[in-house]
Amino acid sequence: MTTRQIVLASRPVGLPTKENFRFEHIELPELIEGQVLLKGIYYSVDPYMRGRMNDAKSYVPPFQLNEPFTGGVIARVMDSKCDSFITDDYVMGSLPWREICIANETEIHPIDATIAPASYYLGVLGMTGLTAYIGLVHIGKPKAGETVVVSGAAGAVGIVVGQIAKIYGCRVVGITGSDKKADVLREEYGFDAVINYKTTADLEKTIGENCPDGVDIYFDNVGGEISDAVIRHMNFHSRIPLCGQIALYNDTARSTGPRLQPILLTKSILMQGFIVSNYQRLFPEATEHLSQWIKEGNLKFTETVIHGFDQLPAALFGLFGGENIGKMIVAATDKDI
Ligand code: NAP
Repeated sequence: MTTRQIVLASRPVGLPTKENFRFEHIELPELIEGQVLLKGIYYSVDPYMRGRMNDAKSYVPPFQLNEPFTGGVIARVMDSKCDSFITDDYVMGSLPWREICIANETEIHPIDATIAPASYYLGVLGMTGLTAYIGLVHIGKPKAGETVVVSGAAGAVGIVVGQIAKIYGCRVVGITGSDKKADVLREEYGFDAVINYKTTADLEKTIGENCPDGVDIYFDNVGGEISDAVIRHMNFHSRIPLCGQIALYNDTARSTGPRLQPILLTKSILMQGFIVSNYQRLFPEATEHLSQWIKEGNLKFTETVIHGFDQLPAALFGLFGGENIGKMIVAATDKDI
């Protein structure tokens, strides 16, 4: 059987371009015992993939030149030579960007598409939802009445962070890159205030105006100048779960900014970087809470679904242009499951 895959053709300098990706046809081998044949249904595109396109040591190894991209994929079992899965089961795993692929049964786990739409296991019930919960609840430690600022507020992680903060009784201020996203966050997701960083002339001043009692938790998804501006308003003993730095992922030179350590020092601020995969012990607790909040109607979720396997590279670029609201997903099929 032949299939198509997307490989890393070259390493980007700055923002990735379509030349960094190559589509190719490959022949799949016969299934052997312990393996399943999978048809990709939903593919996750995530900002961390940009880091993996560099040849640099990090918490995940880089993608290799001429090898397929890999990432979170929801797939349907087409054929099985193992005891754990049967045809038509829905599964999830970190899988290659192939339309059809072979996986060992140990590389995938089942998902229950009757609890929530299958694609949610890439978002609110998957890696980004877990990241929001663990970063906010276990590092941010929110208390009722506190002010929480979240950057990248309309993205997959940020939109969940804001709602969890509301569940904990906090005042929530989001930072995002469009008026449309700001309206959605205020009107549909209960954010108390939202700042459009692209149209705000003096971000530091505007954050101060929107946080009259200072900032108790800054959930940092973006870094750069946005974070420089927020950190000026942090309160004594405030916390910064350091989740992402997307504003810097395409930098070609090391950026320098204001030295923030004096603020961290004098206000006894905790700033803690974290990588969600290092907190697997908390996944059952996080999943239980996220599922419960969804069931109760306290946690809503949205996705930007782009149709067509061919659109995977464009969807990945789209994250850097702010084209998504909620989780960015590529659907290989027109039929929702
Ligand atoms: P996302 O927010 O759904 O998508 C990226 C968003 O970032 C875009 O929609 C865009 O929204 C914003 N953005 C892009 N370039 C920007 C820039 N230069 N300055 C400010 N904002 C920019 O992505 P996500 O999956 O939820 O991830 C959010 C962050 O968390 C990323 O930095 C990611 O790397 C990180 N993350 C970390 C972990 C972990 O374990 N630590 C896990 C998952 C994700 P606007 O329209 O608002 O600009």
